[in-house]
Amino acid sequence: MALIVHKYGGTSMGSTERIRNVAKRVAKWVRAGHRLVVVPSAMSGETNRLLALAKEVSPEKATPETMRELDMIAATGEQVSVGLLALALQAEGVPAVSYTGWQVPVKTDSAYTKARIESIDDARVRADLAAGKVVIITGFQGIDDDGHITTLGRGGSDTSAVAVAAAMKAAECLIYTDVDGVYTTDPRVVPEARRLHAVSFEEMLEMASLGSKVLQIRSVEFAGKYRVPMRVLSSFTPWDIPIDEEARSGTLITFEEDENMEQAVVSGIAFNRDEAKVTIMRVPDRPGIAYQILGAVAEANIDVDVIVQNVSHDGKTDFSFTVHRNDYARTIDLLKSKVGPAVGAGEVTGDARICKVSIVGIGMKSHVGIAAKMFRTLADEGINIQMITTSEIKTSVVIDEKYMELAVRALHKAFDLEQPQPA
Ligand code: ASP
Ligand code: MG
Repeated sequence: MALIVHKYGGTSMGSTERIRNVAKRVAKWVRAGHRLVVVPSAMSGETNRLLALAKEVSPEKATPETMRELDMIAATGEQVSVGLLALALQAEGVPAVSYTGWQVPVKTDSAYTKARIESIDDARVRADLAAGKVVIITGFQGIDDDGHITTLGRGGSDTSAVAVAAAMKAAECLIYTDVDGVYTTDPRVVPEARRLHAVSFEEMLEMASLGSKVLQIRSVEFAGKYRVPMRVLSSFTPWDIPIDEEARSGTLITFEEDENMEQAVVSGIAFNRDEAKVTIMRVPDRPGIAYQILGAVAEANIDVDVIVQNVSHDGKTDFSFTVHRNDYARTIDLLKSKVGPAVGAGEVTGDARICKVSIVGIGMKSHVGIAAKMFRTLADEGINIQMITTSEIKTSVVIDEKYMELAVRALHKAFDLEQPQPA
């Protein structure tokens, strides 16, 4: 008998029919003797619908005041979900009670639309559990110190669930979603991609930050910090499959590099097309230049990812970096109008049609030659590498966007990811 947190995504909560299925699944866990806290998302499409309404009324640029109201509006999607799920459980004969973020309360900072959870008071939830109830808590939302409703950013219910699991020291946090686990790469790009039975927390963190969209990255950071065992599994299996089978399905995100872990050197191929590259040419090669360029970019609130500085010729060097595609025009503008002239640089160029492809695996820590194999694979396909960056457990390259799928497929194959896993 354990305390378990279930999280259900928008698709799993997508209709009253599906909500009834969720209730049946939760009831099965309760009847097996577990205590359950459930954190659902809004019904699929609902958050988009609410935010579109807001935009119709106020198409202007966001201000702190408008962002407060966006959270007020967006948070209602989850409130409907928890109420419906509580009703469905009661109809199943299972005592259940629902709470919004502010009722628990889930305390956050005041960064509207991307708030961070600071603390969760679990007294009320514990009392209900002790009274034999399933407790259903809204995902995605919280409340700040001044009593304003906040939301945690798109996909934030994952983080809510892990935070609740951490606060309550739950035995496991099960993330039920519309895929049946974490894959070696996106199966839409590589049909031979296969599900991983287990993946380390470090790898999952890299995969989420590099473009694998299964989990909100903050939820993985949270799970890492508080060591919450987490599992991603499908909510589309029949609700009445045996509980042991369900508890072993999907992908476990684990902290121990133990016998559960596969022995592969590379566990997955991640990619994203959200970035753009900018280059500022012939900048003087002297102390303080990188700071002058990137400091100005940071001050404009633009996040920088990959950075490359060349060796200098005649005291001048080219400096390239990538930013989010949404910030591309702004970055070019900033470099041309302010930074370039200030540092005495040459031309400013850029390319928004790039993508980043990465190989990820904790096995890279102890194996040499993995990056070389990646470069050879890309060379064999005639793909030019524009930038490279590495960490202990990943190597990323920036390439022309039009070769993205080719690169992902070739790498998936080169690192033997499509082979059946050893039993
Ligand atoms: N409903 C919110 C969204 O669509 C939060 C979530 O689903 O995780 O982003
Ligand atoms: Mg989601």
